[in-house]
Amino acid sequence: MTTPDGFGRSTGVAGVSQPPAGTGYLTSPVPGQAPVPAALAHAAGGPRYWMPAQPDQAARTAPAGPLAAPPTAPVSAPPGGFDVEAVRRDFPQLHREVNGRPLVWLDNGATTLKPRQVVEAVAEHYSMGTSNVHRGAHTLAKQATQIYEEGREEAARLLGTPDAGEIVFVRGTTEAVNLVAQSWGRANLSVGDEILVSAAEHHSNLVPWQLIAKERRARIRPIPLLPDGQLDQDAYRDLLGSRTKLVALTHASNVLGTVPPVAEMTALAHRYGAKVLVDGAQAVSHFPVDVTALDADFYAFSGHKIFAPTGIGVLFGKRELLEAMPPWQGGGNMIDSVSFEETSYAPVPHRLEAGTGHIAGVAGLRAALRYLAGLDRPAATAYEEQLTAYAMGALATVPGLQLIGDAPGKIGVLTFLLAGTDPIALAAALDQQGIAVRAGHHCAQPALAAFGLQSAVRASLALYNTVQDVDALVAALQGLQGVQGLPAAPAG
Ligand code: PLP
Repeated sequence: MTTPDGFGRSTGVAGVSQPPAGTGYLTSPVPGQAPVPAALAHAAGGPRYWMPAQPDQAARTAPAGPLAAPPTAPVSAPPGGFDVEAVRRDFPQLHREVNGRPLVWLDNGATTLKPRQVVEAVAEHYSMGTSNVHRGAHTLAKQATQIYEEGREEAARLLGTPDAGEIVFVRGTTEAVNLVAQSWGRANLSVGDEILVSAAEHHSNLVPWQLIAKERRARIRPIPLLPDGQLDQDAYRDLLGSRTKLVALTHASNVLGTVPPVAEMTALAHRYGAKVLVDGAQAVSHFPVDVTALDADFYAFSGHKIFAPTGIGVLFGKRELLEAMPPWQGGGNMIDSVSFEETSYAPVPHRLEAGTGHIAGVAGLRAALRYLAGLDRPAATAYEEQLTAYAMGALATVPGLQLIGDAPGKIGVLTFLLAGTDPIALAAALDQQGIAVRAGHHCAQPALAAFGLQSAVRASLALYNTVQDVDALVAALQGLQGVQGLPAAPAG
């Protein structure tokens, strides 16, 4: 038995609570569908809901590495490749309960859970390493500065640029896009210029462009979607022209899961002299990114969607673009010298980073990116792809369930409707079973509107999810069919 504490964590011993009943999908695949891939069969092979013992002090201060195997180690790691159970042991929140049930976290599109290495890095900064960065002459200022700049180097490595000076720290993707719109946009857009924005964008890669377009009297033109959620490439080619100054593109849609052909679309945009900003918020945790290969002019992501803290994010910009951009905020850190007569500015990236940054956040980001770099990323991506295919097949077995978006190569963002149920009521009912999904417009109203919708349920996967998570969702959805008290969805 487990005894949840005030936060729903189990205080019991290892290997205790039972998973909810499976759907049988795993063991009895639907005729005509592919059998469970080997990597997933491995993940499905044993009890999953063990509770890790509280790490002792030695373990807490030990260098990064997986916790010792629990007494009921569920499965052994495959040789090489990706060991999902080892990864799961690093994420304490995966081992708590919600509403009396083991947590099934399928809200990764909103934010990802944090491995203990990240939690420890943030705690370490505040408990032992607190200092401001850059200006201090003392030891702790030097240490904090070193961690901060190493965080920048990790971000550069993650994105595939050799130049850490092309990495600007921001609060998140939203602030990154606003920075580019307010600085680059104000300096480069004028009357009649066009900004192409895909219809799959999160509001944070649309509204900042609307704001600056209104100010500069430029024009936003949407790149439409095809019925499966892909961007309409013929329409894109027709939209491009001599007036196109910027193309705003998601690298992975947070509502459809679509991964557009960003490299090809960027090459086309460049033929017209347009710049391309890529929103990588949903991409970076799912597959390796290389801004050099993409030839992206700007690339943005949020730390909290890649296992790091909230309040820290990254804007990559090609050096020559960043250097030509005027400051967008003024204050400390971003200046060279200041007088009432004349103020000059620091070189990039500091020129675009006014004020004290989120130092603990960068410490956490550095830990998260090192954690990720320590995994076999191609194997992790392959695992997620297999899990996504499995989830799409499993969800398709639920009567009345309609998946929105099935573009080839999509990430594990599974947005759906269940006939006769309101998405928000459905998400609340799933929550009662410990299953965290999101419902609503997902800050992508134009994308949903393209499908005639205002609201939908979204289950989003991360590399620590398993077939059992998917099975728990599918079983719950099957159990909720026809349940009284789940109001019908409002007309789209
Ligand atoms: N872009 C995409 C594709 C997203 O999914 C999100 C958040 O859900 C954002 C941008 C905004 O991220 P943040 O709120 O961290 O700035």
